[in-house]
Amino acid sequence: MRFDIITIFPEAFESYVQSSIIGRALRTKRISVHAHNLRQWTADRHKTVDDKPYGGGPGMVMKVEPLAKAVKAITANRRTQNAKRKKSTQRIILLSAKGKLFTQQHARRLARFDRLIFICGHYEGVDERVAKHIADEELSIGEYVLTGGELPALVVVDAVTRLIPGVLGKQESLAQESFSIPGTREYPHYTRPEVFRMKSKKGKPVRAAVPKILLSGDHKAIARWRSTHAKSGKSAS
Ligand code: SAM
Repeated sequence: MRFDIITIFPEAFESYVQSSIIGRALRTKRISVHAHNLRQWTADRHKTVDDKPYGGGPGMVMKVEPLAKAVKAITANRRTQNAKRKKSTQRIILLSAKGKLFTQQHARRLARFDRLIFICGHYEGVDERVAKHIADEELSIGEYVLTGGELPALVVVDAVTRLIPGVLGKQESLAQESFSIPGTREYPHYTRPEVFRMKSKKGKPVRAAVPKILLSGDHKAIARWRSTHAKSGKSAS
């Protein structure tokens, strides 16, 4: 899987993609991540990527021309490669607060593409012609407004990468986790020690014990307990 990210802050991606499981997926070449500085596709001395909105109003709007040039340039080198090998599949995604809400189902669908190209907005947003004529889809990571599309792009890269075969150490982790079936939550986890003495949030002494059933060795009973607590979303007692 190849990720291309069009942004005015390419440096924002460096540290995150080098870390943890995403970093390992990069090093083992299961993914590659390319953050492109949008300003290289501007024509003026100031490398302008935004302008005032038609019709007036606050803030600045990201211009369509540099984004159109960026997508054309990024997809052009791929077309040449595709002529030599099997045709690959790609999706152009505009990150946008008003897009479709990104869910685990979207992550699973996107993990089947060979390449994802992200357009990160800033300021008041992006000229609507990008959503209409350039992007294949518009995704939002939640009902709140961030300053830019960089964090949303990283969220999608992360959620998609962990679904790529071989990226997680144990593939079965994916089968039972939250949202693997829409609307479900994973069961609660515990590890050692069996009993942990601490103060509650209200300052009272608490003997916090692992539910006995998980220590029983009775795999059927454990599976029943887990499925009850997964479906109900209740915390374990
Ligand atoms: N004026 C826009 C609105 O009201 O919907 C918000 C623009 S926001 C300040 C700038 C950029 O951040 C957007 O173009 C988008 O790329 C990104 N962004 C902000 N919130 C987002 C979200 N919840 N999901 C995805 N992208 C988001």
